[in-house]
Parts: sequence; structure tokens; C-alpha cells
Amino acid sequence: MKLVKLIANLGYGSRKDVALMFREGRITDAQGEVLYADDKVAHDAIRIDGKPLDPPAGLVLMLNKPVGYTCSTKDVGRLIYDLLPSRFRHRSPLLSSVGRLDRDTSGLLLMTDDGQLLHRIVSPKAHLPKVYEATLAHDLRGDEGEVFASGTLMLDSETTPLAPATLEVVDPCHARLILTEGRYHQVRRMFAAVGNHVEALHRSRVGGLSLADLPQGQWRALGENDIGALF
Ligand code: URA
Repeated sequence: MKLVKLIANLGYGSRKDVALMFREGRITDAQGEVLYADDKVAHDAIRIDGKPLDPPAGLVLMLNKPVGYTCSTKDVGRLIYDLLPSRFRHRSPLLSSVGRLDRDTSGLLLMTDDGQLLHRIVSPKAHLPKVYEATLAHDLRGDEGEVFASGTLMLDSETTPLAPATLEVVDPCHARLILTEGRYHQVRRMFAAVGNHVEALHRSRVGGLSLADLPQGQWRALGENDIGALF
């Protein structure tokens, strides 16, 4: 791909903007030598204003989403894209969230521009475990683990029962719930179905990936090893 198109697709500006950046000498190699639009250079050798070029298409990233951010490209209020470099909203292909976390849920959110990978992760056939830490308004009554594991729990306005889910009791009003599907507001609706209310919800793990020491509001690009750990 021509450098102008490649850089424009990464959201740095229109092709016209990028052509101007070349003329202004803002695009260089790692040694600071000015590059020209028809040079042939490896992606990781390109610098813009001295900074490495963003990762190429095929990007997968992990975000530690804080409460208060919406998984949407256009909505009122704060969006997950506000936590990324602003040009990430203009990348082509578009970077989308892999499934969603509610505005009031924090934790591990994957984003990618790789449509095939996205479908592989969200597909119910993948049975990818997602781990949620829930803070509850009321003490657990004791039978929730059995109800959630039964594979017969039917949520309001759904036509099929939920797949079996695993509940781990942390203390009377804190529970860890492990799901392999991702229905709308699933965790909150599951606890509502057993007479409780989720006061705070955090996703700590997806497949074999956890947030580890990624601070809240921060993101990191995933490598092949991370993707391998996911499945
Ligand atoms: N279940 C919920 O209720 N909310 C989320 O954000 C994710 C799972």
C-alpha cells in the first residue's frame, strides 16, 4: 500500500493532509531522515513528528474501561474512544469494541479492527469464559449458584434459557460470575432474577486474558501471545 494511503487509513488525516505532512518533512525514518510519499519503508521504521506510527490494521487492544464511558462511536457523554488517541476513531478499518460493557461497568474491554477475530471471540460457539466481579445490594441467599448453573434460567423477554454459568462466592455481598455468553445486561439481569441488585460490576478476565497491572483508563496493544492466551 502507498504510504499516503497507509498513514491516512491510520486516522492521521485525509490523504491530502498526509501529503502535506510529507511536504512539511514531518514523516521520517527512525534516524530522522525525511521520507517521501513513494519511499518503501517498513511500518515500524516510520516516524511522524518523531513518534512511531500507530500499529497497522489488524490491531487488537485491551482497555481497562472505567465506569462512565459508553461503548459507542456516537453517543452523548464520554465514549471509550475518548480514552484512545483521537485518530483511532478515524482508522480504516474501524476499531470496534468486541461486545460491550455497560456504561456503569468497568474492566477488560477488547477492541479490534479485525472483523474475523471479533466474530471468533463473540461467537457463542467459542464458549469464551468472561469473568465478572459483582458487588451486590443484598447478601446472597445461598441458592444462586445452583440456579445459575442449571441452564434453565430464563430472563424476561428472552426466548431461550441461559447457558449454565458458574458463581463463586467471595463474601456475602461479593460474587464472581463466569459466563460463556453475552446477552444484554446479562449479569445485572441474572442477579435481578434471583431477587438481588448489582451495585458495581467489573470484568476482570476474558478467556485467558486478564487486566494484570493495566491501570484504569489505560490501554495496550495485544501481541500474538496475548491472542493465543485468549482462546
Ligand atoms: N453484564 C452486564 O449486566 N453488564 C455488562 O456490562 C456486562 C455483562
